[in-house]
Parts: sequence; structure tokens; C-alpha cells
Amino acid sequence: MPKKYVIANFKMNKTDSEVAKYIDEFKPLIEKSSCQIVLSVPYVSIKTAVEKVSDSNITIAGQNLNENDFGAFTGEVNAEMLTAVGAQACIVGHSERRSKFNETDELINKKIMKGLRDGLICVLCIGETLFDKKNQKTEQVLKQQITKCLNSIYANELNHIVIAYEPVWAIGTGISATTDEIAQAISLIRKMLSNLYDADIASKVAIVYGGSINEENIKDIARLDDVDGVLVGGASLDPMSFSKIVLAFDDEERTNDKKTKKRVLKK
Ligand code: PEP
Repeated sequence: MPKKYVIANFKMNKTDSEVAKYIDEFKPLIEKSSCQIVLSVPYVSIKTAVEKVSDSNITIAGQNLNENDFGAFTGEVNAEMLTAVGAQACIVGHSERRSKFNETDELINKKIMKGLRDGLICVLCIGETLFDKKNQKTEQVLKQQITKCLNSIYANELNHIVIAYEPVWAIGTGISATTDEIAQAISLIRKMLSNLYDADIASKVAIVYGGSINEENIKDIARLDDVDGVLVGGASLDPMSFSKIVLAFDDEERTNDKKTKKRVLKK
């Protein structure tokens, strides 16, 4: 079974010393987890975080990258700079970047190409707004985002991409999508990937869900077969809460193992 991704997005929260303290508290809580845990921390704390997680099953990610190689882009950071300080992944196209920094699908596509070229795993965020949902535009919006953001990305590069289905109406609102809505959207996304590439490739792409996940609703979400993990904002800021979200996937795996053993014994 491929590892489940459990990705934290700290957004613009925590100073460097707070990130260090967080990791000190978090590490012992998840040391037995079999999940692929990723902490997306502010740029200025990547180096500290990378050093702190060196003896653990945690990797560190950026939250954004610039699409250019280098040059006169004051305040920006490129993929090469992220990998140079030890980041292994980067969130790309988060809905806050789309809505507050006017990022388009075309720009996000350039960022993904740059990230992949420089060896980063790109966590591509897609998702419909409440307006889209109310107007039954979810499928159309997801299709456009996937097609444009993955333009010119080869099939063999998809194992370096994680798609995060994050309905905008669920981010930071306390209203998570239901398990039915999540399962439906992920199945739609796989169908779209299958049309763009092929069914076998589509089945192997990691697709995670994000939007108001907490210690409670994670139990049902972790049970969904086709969900390869989660992207967590608010609830990732507290190490104890986030560890419970990680461990929900481990609990689910143990339950499935027991069910399989019982089936084998019955035969
Ligand atoms: C996010 O920002 O990607 C996110 C999922 O936030 P929250 O968990 O707070 O809804």
C-alpha cells in the first residue's frame, strides 16, 4: 500500500523558534507512523525545520515558489533556493495564492514545471468556490484547473505531483466537505486524469483532500479508500491535534490489516 500523505500548511504562522519548538513536540508523537508527513513552513524556517526533522519520517516543504530561474524579482524565492536548504516539496496554487495574489492556472503550470525541473514534489491545489458549487460548476472548474495546471506535464512526472482537492468553501471555514462529496470529487479528478493520460497512470496519482479537517472528521475521511491523504491548515498548527490526524491513518491501516487477516483465517 502506498504511504498516505499527511501535509501541514502553516501558512503565515509561527516564527523560526516556534517552528523548532513545534517539531520537538511533534516528533515523538508520530515516530511510529507509517505516513508520509510533510510540514509546509514559512520560507525563513525551512532550514531550521530541515535540521530538526533529519532523524525522522517528516519532510519539509515550501508554500509557494516563483516560476523564474533567478533575477530581478524582489521578495521572491525559486525552486532551486528551496531545494538548496533541504525542502523536498512545495505547495503550488493554493486557493489563497489564487484569490489574494491573482495566481492563474497558467502561472501555476509554470511554477509546477519549474518545481519539477528542480526536483521538488509539487502539491497542486485545485477546488471550486462556493459560487461554482451553487451553480453546479464544480466539474467544469476542476477540469479547467487540471487541464491547464498540468499542461505539458509528462506522465512520468506525475509521481512527483500530489493533487490536493481543496474546495475553497471548506478552507478555514469549519465546514468540511462530506465524505460523499470528497469521494465524488476524487473520482471525477481520476476520470479527468485518465482522459488526459490513461487509467493506469490516473490510478497511481496521489490525490489528497483539504478543508477544515480536524481530529474528529478525520476518522471518516481516513476510511475513504481512494483518498491518498490530507492537507491540513488550521488543525496542523497544534502538534497534538496534528498528530491525532496523522495517527487516524495508522489506526485505519491497522483495522484493515486485521480485517484482511480475519478473511484469510476464514478461508
Ligand atoms: C489549507 O489552507 O490548505 C486548509 C486546508 O486549511 P484548513 O484546514 O484550515 O481548512
